[in-house]
Amino acid sequence: APHSTPPTQGDPATQSPAATQTPAQTTTPTQRGAVPLAEARIGVADLAVTRGDGIFESIGVIDGRFIELDRHLRRLEHSAALLDLPRPDSAAFAEAARRGLDAHSAEPELLVKLFYSRGIEGAGIPSGWVEVLTGDDHRAARSTGIRVVTLDRGYRHDIAQTSPWLLQGAKTLSYALNKAALREAARRDADDVIFVSTDDVVLEGPTSNVLVRHGDLFRTPRTDLGILAGTTQAAVFETLMARGFETIEAALSVADLASADAVWLLSSGRLLAPVRELDGQAMPVDREFSESLLTETFGVHP
Ligand code: PLP
Repeated sequence: APHSTPPTQGDPATQSPAATQTPAQTTTPTQRGAVPLAEARIGVADLAVTRGDGIFESIGVIDGRFIELDRHLRRLEHSAALLDLPRPDSAAFAEAARRGLDAHSAEPELLVKLFYSRGIEGAGIPSGWVEVLTGDDHRAARSTGIRVVTLDRGYRHDIAQTSPWLLQGAKTLSYALNKAALREAARRDADDVIFVSTDDVVLEGPTSNVLVRHGDLFRTPRTDLGILAGTTQAAVFETLMARGFETIEAALSVADLASADAVWLLSSGRLLAPVRELDGQAMPVDREFSESLLTETFGVHP
C-alpha cells in the first residue's frame, strides 16, 4: 500500500506522535508507541484524509501539565456521538497523550492534538492518534491583544436545532473554512475573526469562543447557537464566578461587542487574547485584569 505523507506542522524533529488503532468491536485498542513525526504514517484511504471525516481536540500543556484534559476528553466523546462514531476510548487517548508528551523534549508550552477518524474507507474500524507539537508564541496576543473582524457565518442562530446534520457543535476535522476565514481576516489587516449569524447573533471565532464584559457582567454566546462548548471558556467562567462576577451564556449582537468594556477570544493554546480592535474600531483593553485572569485560571504569565 502507498504510504501517506506524515503530518507536517512545525519542526518534525521535535514532534512525537503516539499512534493508536482503535478497532470498533473490541474494548482494547491496539497501541503503537511514540514515533518522531517524520516516521508517523496515516493511510491515504483514511477518511480523515479523504473526507475530513473525523474529529479532534487541541489541548494546551503548560510546564508538563495538561490544561482541562477531562473537558477535552468529554468533548471528544460528544463530537464522536454527533458524528455517529463509536465511543472513543478516552483512557487510551489520555495514555497516548502522556506517552507522546514523555517522548517530547520538555518545553514551557506544548500542544497535544487528539485525532479520531472513521478510519480506512470500508474497513469500519476507527483510527486514532495523538500529535505533540510546539505551540505558537502567544505572548503578544495575550498581553497587547489582537485585531478582530466580524464575518458572516452564513446561517441563522438556530442552525443546531433546524439542521443537526450540519454537525454544529462537533469539533470535526473539516476546518478548511475556519482556515479560510483566518486568511480573510489577514486580507482585512486583522489577526482573527468573530463569526456572526445571518440574523446578527454573535457565534464564535474559527478556533475560539467569545467573552464579553459590561461592568461586572461577563457573557459568552450560548452553546445552543451551533458553536463549540469551549474548555477555555468554562475554566475562565469558574475563575470569574469565584471572584463574584456575574457570568451568563447569552445571545449577543454585534452592537453588544462594540459597546463592551472588554472582549476576549478564548481558546486552548493561546488561552486568553484581549480584542484591542474590532472591525477597525479600538476596543478598551485592561491588561492588568486580563493577565490576572490568565494567571489565576491557568498559572500562566503572558
Ligand atoms: N470554537 C471553535 C470552532 C474551535 O475550534 C475552538 C478550539 O479550537 C473553540 C471554539 C475553543 O475551544 P477550546 O477553548 O476548548 O479550545
